[in-house]
Amino acid sequence: MVMMERVTPPPQRARVRKVAAYARISMETERSPKSLSAQISHYSELIQSTPGWEYAGVFADSGISGTTTNRPQFRAMLDRARAGGIDLILTKSISRFARNTVDLLETIRELKTLGVEVRFEKENISTFSADGELVLTLLASFAQAESEQISQNVRWRVRKGFEQGKANGFHLYGYTDSADATDVEIIEAEAEVVRWIFAQYMAPTSCEAMAAQLIADGRAPQQLASNKMPGEWVRHILKNPSYTGDLLLGQWATPDGKPGRAVRNTGEHPMYLVENAIPTIIDRDTFTAVQAEIARRRDLGARANWAIETVAMTSKIKCATCGCSFVRNRRNPKTQNQITTEHWICTERKKGRTTSCGTSEISDTALKTLIANILGIDEFDDDVFTARIDHIDVTGKDHYTFHYTDGTISAHTWRPNLKRSSWTPAKRAAWAELVKARWEYARKLGIDGRSAPTPPEALAKYRAVAKAEAERLRAERGER
Ligand SMILES: [Zn+2]
Repeated sequence: MVMMERVTPPPQRARVRKVAAYARISMETERSPKSLSAQISHYSELIQSTPGWEYAGVFADSGISGTTTNRPQFRAMLDRARAGGIDLILTKSISRFARNTVDLLETIRELKTLGVEVRFEKENISTFSADGELVLTLLASFAQAESEQISQNVRWRVRKGFEQGKANGFHLYGYTDSADATDVEIIEAEAEVVRWIFAQYMAPTSCEAMAAQLIADGRAPQQLASNKMPGEWVRHILKNPSYTGDLLLGQWATPDGKPGRAVRNTGEHPMYLVENAIPTIIDRDTFTAVQAEIARRRDLGARANWAIETVAMTSKIKCATCGCSFVRNRRNPKTQNQITTEHWICTERKKGRTTSCGTSEISDTALKTLIANILGIDEFDDDVFTARIDHIDVTGKDHYTFHYTDGTISAHTWRPNLKRSSWTPAKRAAWAELVKARWEYARKLGIDGRSAPTPPEALAKYRAVAKAEAERLRAERGER
């Protein structure tokens, strides 16, 4: 699940003079009072030796628990701040200052309205910097989750991850670049393209067609013209909530042991939505409508992609194991005498991915025959198929589950590539004789059985049996 918290953009920076510090013993790592007195003297010296700073006191709590109620010095500090006696508070780390995100943000916000800045030494953050509160929110949630014992490595990872999310720069097509997204402006020519993309999508037009159009019209940005998959660039525009003016932060996170390798945050870490952070290009209603349309087209699969020739079975034959659709694969003839054949194949398999689904290629003709048999019609028919079949799940080599549009289901076992009906016991026995004859012949010649030629009399014998069996089967079915 993705967690989101709404936060407001930070106000303007204020001048700082009266300086206080807050110190506390951390619960897990420092039980010694020495540590507290060290913090106190560090801050008194720092404040008194910095030009332009007036000493406003060092407040220190030695309580083990970090909740506000049993931190008398913390409350005394807040009281002095409310009375106008403090402009700046120095503290070692977020976890010293507050034990949970709500606590931290409430305090920070109150201090901000009082014009009091808080600086966190370890994290190198000021609540008065442009995105200080956002960074704080993120860091606090990490601090809360990962406790006081966060290693230097993890701290670095958190900061780095946030930088890659947004804090270290805002670059988005349609807007001017910005270091921290506080002074972003719309580039009208680009914004026109964005609006056009949103409008065209609902027309409806595919992302690929829009990309081609933009390139043809010479309206394409550089990113699009040089993009190997220009349709994807258009799709990213459509999915980016920032065009509504809201910024979603924390979309990227850096995994353990892989510094610098940001990956999309899929809900393991909190995300933050900043409303009206930048000027609006697309109103929220339009954006929401487009997201619904994207979801609808995704459900339809290839049927909604106008670039692909659709047939009745497209997107309706599913690989139950891989969770994807079967796609039609046209195989061109290798010799003049062969004809073009069409097969249905699991998409994962077609893409050459390793899959354990065990499905095989199904001949288009064979599949249509199976469907016609099960539907009780003489010949496969697109309209009947569309009207009656919702989808067909294929499990492994031979399990077919038909899901009908009326909600019913039927399960079938079928081996498309074995002509089972003609593989009679007599024919099977004749085939076994032929194989045995070939091996004996090979042994007589002293060569490998696999490369041995078939003895002509054994082949003739098998062919006679096969022909007789075929005739018998035709007679049984009443054919001539
Ligand atoms: Zn599969």
